[in-house]
Amino acid sequence: MELNGVMVFSENVELELQLLGKGAELAEKLDTELQAVLIGSDVTDASTLIEHGAERVYVVENPELGHFAFEPYRTAILEAIKRASPEIILFGATKRGKELAPRVAAALDTGCMTECIGLDVDDERRLLAERLTYGGSCVANEMSRKKPHIATIPPRTFQKPEPSKRVGEVIKLDFEVPASRIAIVERKEKSRGEGGLEEAPIIVAAGRGFREKEDLKLLEELADVLGAKVGCTRPIAADSGWLDEWIGISGLKVGPRLYLACGISGTVQHAAGIRDAQIIVSINKDEAANIFELSDYGVVGDLYKVLPALTKALKSRRK
Ligand SMILES: Cc1cc2nc3c(=O)[nH]c(=O)nc-3n(C[C@H](O)[C@H](O)[C@H](O)COP(=O)(O)OP(=O)(O)OC[C@H]3O[C@@H](n4cnc5c(N)ncnc54)[C@H](O)[C@@H]3O)c2cc1C
Repeated sequence: MELNGVMVFSENVELELQLLGKGAELAEKLDTELQAVLIGSDVTDASTLIEHGAERVYVVENPELGHFAFEPYRTAILEAIKRASPEIILFGATKRGKELAPRVAAALDTGCMTECIGLDVDDERRLLAERLTYGGSCVANEMSRKKPHIATIPPRTFQKPEPSKRVGEVIKLDFEVPASRIAIVERKEKSRGEGGLEEAPIIVAAGRGFREKEDLKLLEELADVLGAKVGCTRPIAADSGWLDEWIGISGLKVGPRLYLACGISGTVQHAAGIRDAQIIVSINKDEAANIFELSDYGVVGDLYKVLPALTKALKSRRK
């Protein structure tokens, strides 16, 4: 069967709009149509996708799809692919997108290029990608040889297009959503300071320089004054369990205007997550710490002294 069209999907609509920007460019080069998929229990964004360039929106709406579970979502995406037969499928590289894309690729017996920061097509309609590798120190150029070509794209890699009044087709897909084999036992609110890190304009982040969980209070007080979110390195979240999410190559990629690294050594794995930060300020007691190489401003000092002093100074300037 001939495959045609560029399809985009992310459960994060803002990211899906960014994918439409790149998708439109690829679709134009291939002289094919731009398609988008929307999945959920109450889908209202089809017209927004059309205004941002989608020519056809495949909608899968079902009470079972209100919360993400990879099995029913994979089935929904595969149903849309069966209907649309796209030759390229772009997924947002959120946590969920990263679960979904390789599973869809496996079901279609094709490849999946992950976390692409650049995309193009060649004369033979193959998808070309640029990906950061070796902890972000090199760029790998890759080519997908098998259709449909599948790639995942991190947030903020591409710009969302300007909206305009456009006409598109909305196609509702109706099929039996399979029950998930995973039962959700509990849902918990994220702890204070977390959530929204990827969009936060200011982040203050903790590393292993903090000795106790209670000491994070020092950072939270500073966050309050700055209107910042609190982030951390992987050991703080994954090993100590003090916060839920970490920043870095295996965690979140952030792009704040200001990133304040406190008691963080600056390994390549952490650095890969803060590459897009505009200004990096660090506090570390070791003047040879690698984080200073990455920083615009550095304070060599004990965070237990520097943080309270900084918070106090900022508070007094506010008065
Ligand atoms: C496959 C893989 C993936 C990984 N992915 C990630 C990732 O996504 N994100 C991530 O963060 N890590 C990741 N890691 C872990 C990474 O290698 C490092 O172990 C981690 O980043 C180090 O965290 P840290 O800077 O908090 O701790 P450390 O490296 O132990 O640094 C602590 C720093 O605090 C300073 N310090 C100590 N006391 C004070 C004080 N009182 N005042 C001021 N400074 C002080 C020290 O001088 C030191 O520089 C990964 C590792 C692997 C193997």
